[in-house]
Amino acid sequence: MSGLYLRLSVTGRCDLRCVYCRPGPVPRLADALDGPGLVRAARLLAAAGVTKARLTGGEPLLRPDLPDVAAALGRIPGVTWSLTTNGQRLAGMAGMLARAGFSRVNVSVDSLDPEVFRRITGGGDLARTLAGCREAERAGLVPVKWNVVVLRGINDGEAERFAAETLDRAIEVRFIECMPSPGGLADPEERYVPAAEVRARIERRFALTPLPRGRGATAELFAIPGARGRIGFIAPHSAPFCAECNRLRLGSDGVLRPCLCRTDGLDLAALFAAGATDAGVSAEISGALARWPRGLRPDPARAAPAAPMHLLGG
Ligand code: SAM
Repeated sequence: MSGLYLRLSVTGRCDLRCVYCRPGPVPRLADALDGPGLVRAARLLAAAGVTKARLTGGEPLLRPDLPDVAAALGRIPGVTWSLTTNGQRLAGMAGMLARAGFSRVNVSVDSLDPEVFRRITGGGDLARTLAGCREAERAGLVPVKWNVVVLRGINDGEAERFAAETLDRAIEVRFIECMPSPGGLADPEERYVPAAEVRARIERRFALTPLPRGRGATAELFAIPGARGRIGFIAPHSAPFCAECNRLRLGSDGVLRPCLCRTDGLDLAALFAAGATDAGVSAEISGALARWPRGLRPDPARAAPAAPMHLLGG
């Protein structure tokens, strides 16, 4: 198998408490893989066909060994690397990521209003996250992708304002339908806004031209004519992309999973702890990839993550 896209939740810890992810305290679970373990897992998964990979979490920039891990990951041949962050620490770390060979970052920018941002993120500082985005642009981690989880009655009135940001900046603003996740929102149905509604809001003010969609891409992409940036819609509920899914996830518990919404997995941390050789682990990975149906959820109509998002990585 080739062309697989891996998401690696490198830590379950997070410094924010986003309402859609983990509004309560994030449990202090130990991360299952140490730095060499993460790099080993990534190397073996690259050999199994992963060509694109993203570090996520929890908050990946909280891992104290991240500079060493990122540098080692960047040296794995045949894989392009990116990272998803809340941006609170990005301003001091974007250069390090670029030097390690990372090509892009996704930043959660859920509101352009400092108070609403603070409310959604449980205390986050919008100015710090925006400074991180600027720093990432300067470091060449472009286009910086802004992730906006749309929440009815909280940030859904900001769609046009976000769209206007793409006029002069080479960013990609991606509006994401909120998924009900364990430990997340108490009222996910009430907060859910379909992507079509967000798009219609934007089209009241701007024309949107469709752009080609890459293979396995989750976002349906558009641009305002003449704009430098792009606008994407990620619609796990209203337009599930399971049929084209090429993703694998390694959670901060060290378990490799084929899908956010499935409970089965291959415990790489346990294999490493039991002293499995590279050949042995590779055989387990090949077996799992052959066994796991690609692009299938137990019930595609209900995109509900099977474990907390900070463990799975979003
Ligand atoms: N701490 C980093 C951050 O804030 O971006 C990385 C981890 S976070 C779990 C990764 C992504 O997951 C976020 O950008 C957000 O878009 C997505 N996410 C988390 N919970 C979600 C939910 N309930 N529905 C949809 N997307 C969610």
